[in-house]
Amino acid sequence: MYRKNEIIELDITSLTSDGDGVGRAGELVFFVPNTAVGDTIRAKVLKVKKNVGFGRVEEVMKPSADRIEPECPVSFSCGGCVYRHISYDAECSAKRRKVIDAVTRIGKLPAELVREIIPSENIDGYRNKAMIPVGLDRDGKVVMGYYARHSHHIMHCLRCRLSPDIFNDIIADVYAFLSRCPALVYTPQNRGGIRHLYLRSTAAGEVMFCVIAGKRRFEGDKALYDSLKEKYPQIKSMVVNVNSLDTNVILGDQTFSVWGADSLTDTLCGLRFEIAPEAFYQINHDQTQRLYAKAKEYAALTGAETLLDLYCGAGTIGLTMADSCKELIGVEIIPEAIENARRNAAENSITNARFFCGDATAAAEKLRGEGVRPDVIVVDPPRKGLTPELIDTIVQMSPDRVVYVSCDPATMARDLKLFTEQNYSVKEITPFDMFPRTCHVESVAIISRIFL
Ligand code: SAH
Repeated sequence: MYRKNEIIELDITSLTSDGDGVGRAGELVFFVPNTAVGDTIRAKVLKVKKNVGFGRVEEVMKPSADRIEPECPVSFSCGGCVYRHISYDAECSAKRRKVIDAVTRIGKLPAELVREIIPSENIDGYRNKAMIPVGLDRDGKVVMGYYARHSHHIMHCLRCRLSPDIFNDIIADVYAFLSRCPALVYTPQNRGGIRHLYLRSTAAGEVMFCVIAGKRRFEGDKALYDSLKEKYPQIKSMVVNVNSLDTNVILGDQTFSVWGADSLTDTLCGLRFEIAPEAFYQINHDQTQRLYAKAKEYAALTGAETLLDLYCGAGTIGLTMADSCKELIGVEIIPEAIENARRNAAENSITNARFFCGDATAAAEKLRGEGVRPDVIVVDPPRKGLTPELIDTIVQMSPDRVVYVSCDPATMARDLKLFTEQNYSVKEITPFDMFPRTCHVESVAIISRIFL
């Protein structure tokens, strides 16, 4: 039996879906972060359970051929990247493997359905969104950066390779400002100041600067806003979001305009999209265009179809397909996103689209009850996937094709299985690397009705 703090030798033979290395020691399977397939390591045992153990690398005795220099001083403590120490090729293989494992083990489907992964052209600086927690350390010094792995501890770090330079520059300036007046940082006692910075950018380089604070106004706010406005002409929108609750949710309910536009407008797949701070928007612009193009290919529209876009956000996927179908219906739960979707249709002179705000499961059932029979349905749910009730409703609406866009292979695989039990078959699945260096992988699947 292995004991805590004992040093063991391990050959790393695979990676978990979270990117941890897996090695066997006798009867036990050990998980060790920051290792690569092909490593031989000495690891310190941190915890042992019945069949599994957790360890930390002490020494890489024989490095894997996949290893590269991480080029980030905090890569092993930060919760953002898990694949900075392996080559991008190895990372893409690991992500494709994650999709195959989910599809075969959970979905009980053949591995051959999973196509090659579409890699991202940019593996650094690709993010168009950053949320930076701001806090005070034990000595009252300002800390800003990213959450450490599996925790809400802020790891101080002003430059992130995944962010564009302009985000890093703005973050450094805000840090310099706050360091001079730490009283502007939110604490559970003062309940007033800054909790997070929230930045977004467009393909054209326009930037939204949002402060998430305990109160709408806080001392020194004007000086901060004025200095940033003056230095960064790229900032087109300044807003303050108010969150006074002590929960894990970052955004509060109310957003107020400070200066400029209330939201940014980005160009995607040749259309213009206004995106409110509250609305979801894919964070890797160029890769999103490829993902949407694949979804459109899978939808195989001819111009005659009714298309239902469930979990539509600001309407992006459906609106990029609206030129190829007869009618588009979108459903989304966030009211601001639905307002964006309606305006985005109008701004792009799209007249065959209508949007509903509501829960996808309830809205689909309502549409079905009204006799709506979509030919193609696109679903793009959050990580938890679809509800079994929604899958039943979709099957009852009997579309020819369902295009499933997913950010979690495990819940997608679970849902694909339910479709295959009800007269639908999965034709193929294409993984996309939307989030280089993290363990997350996006997929799009095409599911077709079996004609009896
Ligand atoms: N298709 C969009 C958004 C995908 S993200 C795009 O490509 O940008 C998933 C979306 O589902 C988010 O906008 C989220 O607000 C929405 N959502 C979450 N739960 C929902 C529910 N129960 N019903 C409808 N929409 C929901």
